[in-house]
Amino acid sequence: MLQFDGVDLHYGSFRALSGVTLHAAPGELVVLLGANGAGKTSIFMAASGIHKPSAGSIRFGERELVGQRPAQIVASGLVHCPEGRKLFPMMSVKKNLTLGAYVHRRDAAGIQRSLDEVFALFPVLAQKQDHPAGSLSGGQQQMVAIGRALLGRPRLLLLDEPSLGLAPLIVKQVFEVIQRINKAGTTVLLAEQNAYSALAIADRAYVIERGRIALEGDRDSLLHNEAVRAAYIGA
Ligand code: ATP
Repeated sequence: MLQFDGVDLHYGSFRALSGVTLHAAPGELVVLLGANGAGKTSIFMAASGIHKPSAGSIRFGERELVGQRPAQIVASGLVHCPEGRKLFPMMSVKKNLTLGAYVHRRDAAGIQRSLDEVFALFPVLAQKQDHPAGSLSGGQQQMVAIGRALLGRPRLLLLDEPSLGLAPLIVKQVFEVIQRINKAGTTVLLAEQNAYSALAIADRAYVIERGRIALEGDRDSLLHNEAVRAAYIGA
């Protein structure tokens, strides 16, 4: 479904990605592990058309994404839920959610159906739909960010560090929801520093170090890999 081949990405003369080759097959939940600055966000920025790779190819189904505009990429079913949520705090929860449906803005009935699905997944957002998004707790704001991405009707959902800054109990809920979204048929690429919880729900994972793929494997092989345990999981 998503295939990176030899992707390089530069910020000026700084090379943030070097020869990244990775894939996610339909229905998979694939995790990207890596320390701060390893290049996880850059992989997402390249896929969603925000930063253009300097080399390589990114295919989404039959389509080449390199050179396409972000709105075209969203409309094709690849939706990016960014690190740090990036909500509009003064706008209502409902307005923030519906912004995610911008590419479907002429389909009012479809937007309502998606909103109902998001409210079924996150009942608290139905209760708080008229509240300013900035008045919600951190965990609820993360739910709005994920819900907004779902309003884009993703076939492939890119989730960038959804557990960042959340309390352990909330982190658990967020991972459960991600697993539900994936089991309902959406392919997921999840960047996380919370390696153990992410691997627990993953089919496969890649370890990114200094812009390169350092290691890849299925959940069990990485959960039991000594280097991964030492660097990302702890004893
Ligand atoms: P984090 O978890 O901190 O977001 P990350 O693994 O997502 O880390 P990236 O954000 O992709 O890493 O950053 C990879 C490298 O590229 C880092 O060294 C970072 O400083 C650099 N970088 C990221 N964005 C830019 C930018 N817009 N301009 C210049 N350098 C950047």
